[in-house]
Amino acid sequence: MPVSGSARIHITGIVQGVGFRPFIYGLAVRFGLTGWVRNTSAGVDIEVDGNPGVLDSFVNSIKSELPPLARIDTFELSLGNTQGFTGFEIIASEQVSGAFQPISPDVSICPDCLNELLDPTNRRYRYPFTNCTNCGPRFTIITDIPYDRPNTTMATFDLCPDCAAEYSDPLDRRFHAQPVACAVCGPQVWLEDGNGRRLAEREAAIQAAQSLLIAGKILAIKGLGGFHLACDATNIKTVVELRRRKLRVDKPFALMMPDLASVEQHCFISEGERSLLESRQRPIVLLRRKPGSTIADDVAPRQGTLAVMLPYTPLHYLLFNPEPVSGQAATVIPPLVMTSANLSEEPIVTGNDEARQRLGSLADAFLMHNRDIHTRCDDSVTRVLSEELMENGLMLNGAMKTSSPEFSQIYFLRRSRGYAPDSIKLPKKGPSILATGPELKNTFCLTRDNYGFVSHHIGDMENYETLRSFEDGIEHFERLFRIRPEAIACDLHPDYLSSRYAVQRALQNNLPLFRTQHHHAHIAACMADNGLDGSRQVIGLAFDGTGYGDDGAIWGGEFLVADYAGFKRPLHLAYFPLPGGDAAIKRPTRTALALLWSLGLDWEANLAPVQDLCFEDRQALRIQLERDLNTPRTSSLGRLFDAAAAMAGVRQTVNYEAQAAIEFEAALDPAERGAYSFDLRGESVVYDDVIRGLLADVQIGVSIPVISARFHNGLADLTIRACTQIREQTGIGEVALSGGVWQNMALLERTVLGLRKVGFVVYLHHQVPANDGGLALGQAMLAAARYGV
Ligand SMILES: [Zn+2]
Ligand SMILES: [Zn+2]
Repeated sequence: MPVSGSARIHITGIVQGVGFRPFIYGLAVRFGLTGWVRNTSAGVDIEVDGNPGVLDSFVNSIKSELPPLARIDTFELSLGNTQGFTGFEIIASEQVSGAFQPISPDVSICPDCLNELLDPTNRRYRYPFTNCTNCGPRFTIITDIPYDRPNTTMATFDLCPDCAAEYSDPLDRRFHAQPVACAVCGPQVWLEDGNGRRLAEREAAIQAAQSLLIAGKILAIKGLGGFHLACDATNIKTVVELRRRKLRVDKPFALMMPDLASVEQHCFISEGERSLLESRQRPIVLLRRKPGSTIADDVAPRQGTLAVMLPYTPLHYLLFNPEPVSGQAATVIPPLVMTSANLSEEPIVTGNDEARQRLGSLADAFLMHNRDIHTRCDDSVTRVLSEELMENGLMLNGAMKTSSPEFSQIYFLRRSRGYAPDSIKLPKKGPSILATGPELKNTFCLTRDNYGFVSHHIGDMENYETLRSFEDGIEHFERLFRIRPEAIACDLHPDYLSSRYAVQRALQNNLPLFRTQHHHAHIAACMADNGLDGSRQVIGLAFDGTGYGDDGAIWGGEFLVADYAGFKRPLHLAYFPLPGGDAAIKRPTRTALALLWSLGLDWEANLAPVQDLCFEDRQALRIQLERDLNTPRTSSLGRLFDAAAAMAGVRQTVNYEAQAAIEFEAALDPAERGAYSFDLRGESVVYDDVIRGLLADVQIGVSIPVISARFHNGLADLTIRACTQIREQTGIGEVALSGGVWQNMALLERTVLGLRKVGFVVYLHHQVPANDGGLALGQAMLAAARYGV
């Protein structure tokens, strides 16, 4: 057929580093088209000659046969006269100034590469950096765009002839796979001791690491986004030793298990949990622990769950699969603790020198390699929403109709490796905003057009290293995505380091600064997460630990009526005094006593919080309360949970954020139907009867599991009554749930199912966490609404 026309195509989306050009090449060859394809810093350009019918099929195939990791956001097509091309080629990348394109997150090893890795006849047999266009490192090794090898930390490794041939063969799975490498030309692993002495290299290093792990040693292992500390999770002595060295009490450790069969030995898993564990993002998934599991109790003390992930790099697979030696039984590697390698709250360690300096006291040996990590990226932490939550309407009411809910049952606790820096599609185009996020669990967010780029997990902004990581991260994102913020958004809290940075940036660049109320931003984040454009108000249930309120009080039990432009606060948890302010977070016992004092209830001698403090401390606390010294008011539901858990006898002091509430939830007896009774009085949600009921139960020896159930049931009942009352006043029938308290699955299920039963449409988070890790997205939405008004 005669060639009668040409097509010019410009595509944006995730189209680089995902095998897109070879895919186009393959299609062009298949359809007998001539022309070229190239990467630009704005996406991919294609020009082809061919007759109209064939061009049509070509275009359809691009859309319908996309490579697994690719995503098309925009597709521009213009037809013209033939250009007279003679063949099809991939031509040099072009920089378009100011343009941007999404960047792929890191991807776990694909099945093809895994087969090669374990195939003794393959030239990549047991090579720990095997990857291809469908898998491997991306975000963590990219230094700039376009995504080409010189703009990655692989720039220093020259391709050997074999790799070069694969790299330049359009029909090869490794065609233009930027991190491509093999044992001849690529990065290598080695094992060294605490003094920097090399103990072993390559396969011998992996074997030595296995022996040390089996012997109960603690290893620092360099991964994709940083170092992990690894040890035998079934060896209680080692786990306790790791806690001692890391100065980490009680806070659960993540686990890596060799395969699904092993996960099933230790945990109950649903279909959804299985698919999420096996997904190419390979997040940590919180799973219900099976009784009789041999995982040491100290891995996750007093929790009903284990935080589990599967191996995601070739190195992980090699660690769990010792090289078979003929005539010998295979060594079995136990499930491993795999926790971020850092000193208490500092960022995860990424550099080799940094690891030697900072992890010397933590690790017995280091399994290192020489592929640099440009951007640190912690493992993501997720849960899977129950089928009940999904089937009873979440899909029906439109809550899932957003950008790309690849796995709609996912519920993030931390969104980082495997997901960042994927963009979140915003409900509408807006100005470019930099939102600097919260103080704890910080992520920041940059927006451009209708994309929101929520960063990887930065962490708790309490030290210089985290602040630096935050600043570097912002700079990197601004460069990668070619974003020049037109406005800055931050939290109202004057002392947050992220807010101080925002003030500085706004001054420096002469940009407007928008301070956003913490809980309003939470609700805005949930709205954006669900694709709501803000044309309707929602009832926002911002249930949280801590946030600075409009009135200077510490908020956290807020019933808002909100859109992006503003909010009202028809109801909130009645204020109670919080002696010492946010410092009280660590001492539920003090919160409990303050709450009792404010309700005029006695500090009975047999109450756990009373017994926890000596007489002098109680006297000092009473004086502090009576004189109102350093005692802000709070409506925080997180603190009410702390107080209730303390009174019930769960715990009086916490070793990590929300520990009392988490253990209170874990203890809950699901069969118990009783409920304590909250009341609505004016604008206040009052809990006098809740506390009285709880204390009465404690006095007659009702068990913690029953008390916990009655507290959760009561709170869910209250929430449904409160929403119904607000609906009567406003006519609003949509409810958005955001804030850290919604990590509580018992409360979430009771509330969502109850709200649906009385006809509410309920929006949950599913692209960013409900906790402060999703806050920056909401801040950006609020600032965009105020920008230019
Ligand atoms: Zn692969
Ligand atoms: Zn090679």
